Amino acid sequence: MLFKSIHKQIVKKIKEYDTIVIARHIGPDPDAVASQIALREIIKLNFPQKKVYAIGSGVARFRYFGLLDKLDNVDLSNALLIITDVPRFDRVDGANKENYRYTIKIDHHPCDEQVCDLELVDDTSSSACQLITEIVYQTKLKLNRQIAEVLFMGIVADSDRFLLSYTTPKTLLLAAKLLNDYNFELKPLYNNLYERGIQERRFEAYIINNIVITENGFGYIKITDKIIHEFGVDSSTASNMVNDLNFIKELRVWAFSSYDEKADIYKINIRSRGVVINEVAEKFNGGGHKFASGARLSTEEEVDKLFRALDEECRINKDS
Ligand code: AMP
Repeated sequence: MLFKSIHKQIVKKIKEYDTIVIARHIGPDPDAVASQIALREIIKLNFPQKKVYAIGSGVARFRYFGLLDKLDNVDLSNALLIITDVPRFDRVDGANKENYRYTIKIDHHPCDEQVCDLELVDDTSSSACQLITEIVYQTKLKLNRQIAEVLFMGIVADSDRFLLSYTTPKTLLLAAKLLNDYNFELKPLYNNLYERGIQERRFEAYIINNIVITENGFGYIKITDKIIHEFGVDSSTASNMVNDLNFIKELRVWAFSSYDEKADIYKINIRSRGVVINEVAEKFNGGGHKFASGARLSTEEEVDKLFRALDEECRINKDS
């Protein structure tokens, strides 16, 4: 009931503003991009007179969701900012809260702190796209097939094809409703999300062959520049395959460290099959969900420390 009234308040605020900017987290994943683009298109479809921008650095591999906008010469003094799939402003890509008249957050990360004027935060939701689908159906906003496809892909990607524990009856009902109402073809959508070049699959084989597994069930691998160049992939490739190690019997928690040469930073992806990891990640300049977290670290020493802490967490929580 409470969420239903927030859905209505969000639509009321959207109606009030002529200029609306939608941002999401840095280093976006499919749900981050899908949620901001779907929301932009929903607003344009329902309120064609509004100026709506989806911003942040572009990612070539997610171009199938739609293109992003630039904010050159846009007057933001009376604009509404909506952030999706991101809990805090230090993780928002390209938007400064102070520049906007009013702010809204639509997110599924756990976060106790209120950072926007109005917030729809539900950490039991599989994805930000699930939350946006709910807003649409609860408030009877118009939708079309193209937007339904984007929302569906966001839900599928963030729930890892309905495998992760955040998948609930609501997730399945909303995904089924999108499919039922718009009758889209699944094959091209899954091709977008899951088709990979052979080099990426070879790189994945390298990870499987080289991941170190401790006696506590913690798996870790450091992906160096040299390896990235050898396989001809980019530094974000590892992040995109961290979910593929799910269901390996010997792994309870696993982490990849990939060195990003351009940013001179170690990007860490962490996943778990039961041990809570986000509290450990938070101690290392990171965060995320209970079983899917990440961090950005500036030295290899910090990476080693984080890996030791995750191994220790596995040791302490032997039964999780
Ligand atoms: P990833 O491994 O990049 O897919 O991230 C998994 C989850 O952790 C996502 O929900 C991210 O928002 C979150 N996350 C990743 N990196 C960070 C970070 N540096 N700080 C806080 N949360 C993060």
